[in-house]
Amino acid sequence: MVLYSPGRTSTYPEEPPSSGLRFHCLGGGNEVGNVGIVLEDSEGTRLLLDYGLAPTSPPRYPAEAPYVGHAVITHSHIDHLGMAPWLCANHQTTLHGTALTASLSDMMWRDCYKVSSIERYPLAWDKRDIDTALNAWETHEFNEPWDMGSWTLKLLPAGHIPGAAMLHITTPTQTVLLTGDFDTRDSPLVSGAQPIKADVLFVEGTYGGRNHPPKEDEIKRFIDAVQSVVDRGGTVLIPAFANGRTQDVVMLLHRHLPHLDVHVDGMGKRVARLQQEHHHVLRDGDELTKAWKWCKRVGSKSDKKKALNADVIVTTSGMLEGGPSLWYLNRLRHDEQNAVFFTGYQARDTGGRSFMEHGRLNIYGNPTDVPLKWEQFSFSTHAGHQEIVDFARACEAKHVVVYHTDASHARPPLVVDLEAAGHVVHQPENGVSYIIE
Ligand SMILES: [Zn+2]
Ligand SMILES: [Zn+2]
Repeated sequence: MVLYSPGRTSTYPEEPPSSGLRFHCLGGGNEVGNVGIVLEDSEGTRLLLDYGLAPTSPPRYPAEAPYVGHAVITHSHIDHLGMAPWLCANHQTTLHGTALTASLSDMMWRDCYKVSSIERYPLAWDKRDIDTALNAWETHEFNEPWDMGSWTLKLLPAGHIPGAAMLHITTPTQTVLLTGDFDTRDSPLVSGAQPIKADVLFVEGTYGGRNHPPKEDEIKRFIDAVQSVVDRGGTVLIPAFANGRTQDVVMLLHRHLPHLDVHVDGMGKRVARLQQEHHHVLRDGDELTKAWKWCKRVGSKSDKKKALNADVIVTTSGMLEGGPSLWYLNRLRHDEQNAVFFTGYQARDTGGRSFMEHGRLNIYGNPTDVPLKWEQFSFSTHAGHQEIVDFARACEAKHVVVYHTDASHARPPLVVDLEAAGHVVHQPENGVSYIIE
């Protein structure tokens, strides 16, 4: 049971550093997701970057945050904002982010709360705290600076998903850029992040040591594979995350296979509606609107039944952990012409991983054989190894802090290449304070 006792269980040092910039990962230092980074200078200007949780089973939470008046939330994925309601309820923290991140946060928190009740895992915050957090938002446009103590902050587009921001900070002594989750490559939804000069760069290292296949090749492989299932009379089930991936996949299908009958179900429908209300942060808002009008949105039980005869169904959950994707799989599994195409990472102990490894998974509590063919496609919107190295060089960063990374496999090859490029590289562990002079 995670029960933070405000102000008592935080291990964060009480005094500001005597000089330089201190950073301290409450989580997300040597792990992917679960992010919470405290930054503080010698004048006591203090900021928290993100406060999420890792939605593994059981979930992981960052350590208790010390008092912070302000937190910047880079984007609306649960591993970056899942614990913000606790922050607002206990420290009356103001949350800063883009307007789209703020409007998506409501749905993400409610979904997190729902999943925690179904799976009976403890959350340190209550439903009421969601309302407190929703009132705590102060939203910012990209590139519009604001002041906090002696620091000037601004948000810059991060790629990744709509509304995702990098944070740029000018302190009296140095400039700092924190990428959040980012990608320098364009996706159907958003344009890639642009580098900006910074003395200190905090960069996510999810894909350290791994390079993405060329995007055009991967798209072609996906499109050909979808068409061939349809040609043999099958339906393709595409489990997809709600926030970003569902819309990216629908836009790809609309662009390349407009003759197909594509049905969309799950929370991604609501996300798409909100994205369209903020279409100035999209690469091409009209393209999303057109794709969204083109696909058939499942709205009722009878729509669900109709979707079973579709060419393609795109739906949550992305890892075959509950949600409509299991409902569809439970019916599609009887016809071996059908197939399942994964478009995202399948974590350990999820239905998706079990299906890929053993051809069986739990469906409503019953271990069930699913004799369907599956394939996996890499539609990641995180920068790959080479993009990270190129980005750090283009930022001309003296110091590079590699966080949001697997410390045993992904980070070491990144450190090698970043050091070879002349950066001073830092490898934070959770719970340890570091000072950059
Ligand atoms: Zn993340
Ligand atoms: Zn993310």
